[in-house]
Amino acid sequence: MYDAKIIPIKLIDARATPRESGESALIHRLSNFTGVLHDALQRPMLDLRISVTDRCNLRCTYCMPREIFDKNHVFLPRPELLSLEEIARAAQIFTSLGVRKIRLTGGEPLLRRGIEKLVEKLSALRTLNGEPVEIAMTTNGVLLAAKAQALKDAGLSRITVSLDGLDQAIFARMSDSNAEVKSVLAGIAAAQRAGLSPIKVNMVVKRGVNDGEIMPMAEYFRNTGVILRFVEYMDVGSSNGWVMDEVVPAREVIDLISTRYPLHPIDANCTGEVASRWVYADGAGEIGQIASVTQVFCHECTRIRLSTDGKLYTCLFAEQSGTDLRALLRQDSSDETISDAIINSWQNRTDRYSEIRHEVPAFPRNKIEMSYIGG
Ligand code: SAM
Ligand code: SF4
Ligand code: SF4
Repeated sequence: MYDAKIIPIKLIDARATPRESGESALIHRLSNFTGVLHDALQRPMLDLRISVTDRCNLRCTYCMPREIFDKNHVFLPRPELLSLEEIARAAQIFTSLGVRKIRLTGGEPLLRRGIEKLVEKLSALRTLNGEPVEIAMTTNGVLLAAKAQALKDAGLSRITVSLDGLDQAIFARMSDSNAEVKSVLAGIAAAQRAGLSPIKVNMVVKRGVNDGEIMPMAEYFRNTGVILRFVEYMDVGSSNGWVMDEVVPAREVIDLISTRYPLHPIDANCTGEVASRWVYADGAGEIGQIASVTQVFCHECTRIRLSTDGKLYTCLFAEQSGTDLRALLRQDSSDETISDAIINSWQNRTDRYSEIRHEVPAFPRNKIEMSYIGG
């Protein structure tokens, strides 16, 4: 029914001379998806990120600085949040348009009441090929120990846990909270026992704050099956006071680790994967880098985001409020009307903020906060 609106897939002649940049090889790979919605730059819509709450039990300085997210901060009142049923309906429509992976995030997704029920509803969804949709979650892990098994039983496919250091004082400084490293480690262990493997751990690195934790973290997770990924500190939102000097380029991290433990790069798992992957030469496992600042990947960004209150965003660095899907959901709109809104939003997408961040330093000014848009 929607085929007429889907941009015809551009077939690239594999015999044509590829451009040096590798861009044509990438487009060639992306072209292999049929029936999937493509944006104005020919990027397929494959991944949906849903922020299930704008609240959090931590106050990471790079995400929800306490000066802004203090006791006077007004979080979304409950009626403004998409209900679990609304999220599930929207997700079903997204999968009918080609989405094959859904990530639940926030804010802290484990604070959302009924999160296991939501996972259960979403795990019944199928991709255009009839395969189960992959349901993933990103969590700070503080509440994970008690919930890992229930999430697995509900159908969660994979989990990413954010942890910025093993040293309690440094962790406290990064998360600006009294939460304990040992609770997060217990959450990771519980997720492993529940079979949510391979577990990924994301570490945001801020120069002068937790860069001394790079080696201890690498050593802790070697030989555990957990994939540690080093994330460059990004200028997301408008409140974290980001400066380039505090960014530790991912390459620097890889170079540091490889002085002690030699590493080899390996291929991406799938289209749209943002992490570069490396394996230890001695067989101790895999690590990754997410270099959103120094090695941008807008050209293969396949992500659409649904905010806590049901707005659509086609870029993490959006400045303006996206299409109001909640209004459509609450007006009893048909699936077709809601699909049209999503199609319109994706087909008009030209976002590539990370590629132009240094060209237009003062732009954008009012970026949406990550906890609301979904990290
Ligand atoms: N609360 C959950 C958590 O921390 O995993 C999920 C939401 S959080 C916004 C999702 C991810 O975004 C986390 O891995 C966090 O470290 C990352 N993040 C938040 N702000 C960031 C920033 N300014 N730069 C890089 N990564 C950031
Ligand atoms: Fe909360 Fe996650 Fe943001 Fe930290 S990164 S403040 S845990 S939402
Ligand atoms: Fe995707 Fe926007 Fe990030 Fe580029 S800046 S990778 S378009 S979310």
